[in-house]
Amino acid sequence: MIRLTKKVFSDLAIWMMGFGLIVGLVFPFFMFFLGIPREITFSWWFFLVCMIAGLFVGFVNIILAKRVVGSRLSDLSNHMLDIEKHLKDISGKSETFDCSPLKCHIPVDSEDAIGESSKAFNNLVDTLAKSMQTEINIRTYTQMLTSHLETDELCRDALVTLLDMVKAPAGAILVEEEGELNVHCSVGLTNADSLGANPLVLDTLQTLRRGIIDIPKNITLDGVLTTFQPQQIIVEPILYKKVGLGIIVLASPFTFAEESYENLDLFGKSLALALHNSMAHDQVQRLAAVDPLTGVYNRRFGVARLHEEFIRTVKQNISMGLLMMDIDNFKQINDAYGHSVGDRVLRSIALTARGQLREGDIIVRLGGDEFMLVLLGASRSDTQDIGEKIRRMVDEKRISYGEQNIHATVSIGGSSFPELDAEYEKELIEAADRSLYLVKNSGRNRVSV
Ligand code: GH3
Ligand code: MG
Repeated sequence: MIRLTKKVFSDLAIWMMGFGLIVGLVFPFFMFFLGIPREITFSWWFFLVCMIAGLFVGFVNIILAKRVVGSRLSDLSNHMLDIEKHLKDISGKSETFDCSPLKCHIPVDSEDAIGESSKAFNNLVDTLAKSMQTEINIRTYTQMLTSHLETDELCRDALVTLLDMVKAPAGAILVEEEGELNVHCSVGLTNADSLGANPLVLDTLQTLRRGIIDIPKNITLDGVLTTFQPQQIIVEPILYKKVGLGIIVLASPFTFAEESYENLDLFGKSLALALHNSMAHDQVQRLAAVDPLTGVYNRRFGVARLHEEFIRTVKQNISMGLLMMDIDNFKQINDAYGHSVGDRVLRSIALTARGQLREGDIIVRLGGDEFMLVLLGASRSDTQDIGEKIRRMVDEKRISYGEQNIHATVSIGGSSFPELDAEYEKELIEAADRSLYLVKNSGRNRVSV
């Protein structure tokens, strides 16, 4: 249709009223053929009345069209303007695009082009809301990932977001460390710890391909026991530069939606990068804290840890034992077998001592062949007993070197709190040092607390 003005309804008005006018002009001829006398049909006033009637019908039509069609179109445009305004308001902010169907949808009550437009508009708004929500989620998730340097915290927060994104109630994140797959966090799994040895999980780490496991009803999967009956489990490798850093396990009582896989692709990739960074950070931290030869804390870190633990011990009014251990005549071992064998003896003794400690206890290589052991909650007699046990085990152990079995002994001096009413941990160290000195001077291979 030829456009006459810039407004559709003005065009329509011109067409309708023009058509009404033509009908008004043609109408007297119909009347004449139907037998109305010529004097009436071809009189100027009859033409005038017919044309006015035609114009009137055209006018009424345009009013009706405006009310019926125009109101729908203006609904559509008002909704669009509202959405545009809302989008302008929230752009650049982290606000969600709050657009519930009740608020943003146009009612679809006709099966025509307007109904189709309304439907298309509603779909557009839904898609927009979804994509804006995804963008906000990614932004928040990325911020969260970059704010964590500790692997455990990172895994925990990432898992919560991932579960939310894929709409799953249970899952875990496992990280490969020194050849072992360790569970760093889990939600909704009853025995997450066994996941590290699960064949499906290990297989995914080998193949580096996503595994989707459909579980028939009434069957529970070994090692993947959830607090509900899962229907589908995703085992997703965490890949950084084609290297598997770990595994994400997600379990759902339903089948995962296509959207869940898209979200997993999106969110899994940034997790890999963040995990790689946090693992590198952990490694740097470990290198800064650990003596590379023996694998126990180094002096700087160990002394700082003793300080923290001593403050806690005093505050909580509990006990603490401290042992100073020095290898006897170590210089002779070095001289007799060489430095690298001496290193092996150092490592072996550190390992023996470490094996006798409880969780939370601290072993520190102070330097050379001297170690400090901090025994949390140990009384004087506990301290004496643990020292004696370590001394005996070292004495009984033979460190093999080629054909030879090297025998080494240690001298141990100890002190304990609150038996020694120390104000600072330094006093405990000095008392243990004094005991060690006495042992060294009275024949070695002995413990004195
Ligand atoms: P004592 O019974 O009086 O302790 O005699 P000792 O020979 O053990 O004397 P001391 O503790 O003073 O000697 C420590 C020796 O430990 C001296 C040094 O050569 C050796 N040493 C220090 N650090 C290392 C190390 O990293 N590796 C090896 N193999 N030897 C070390
Ligand atoms: Mg020594």
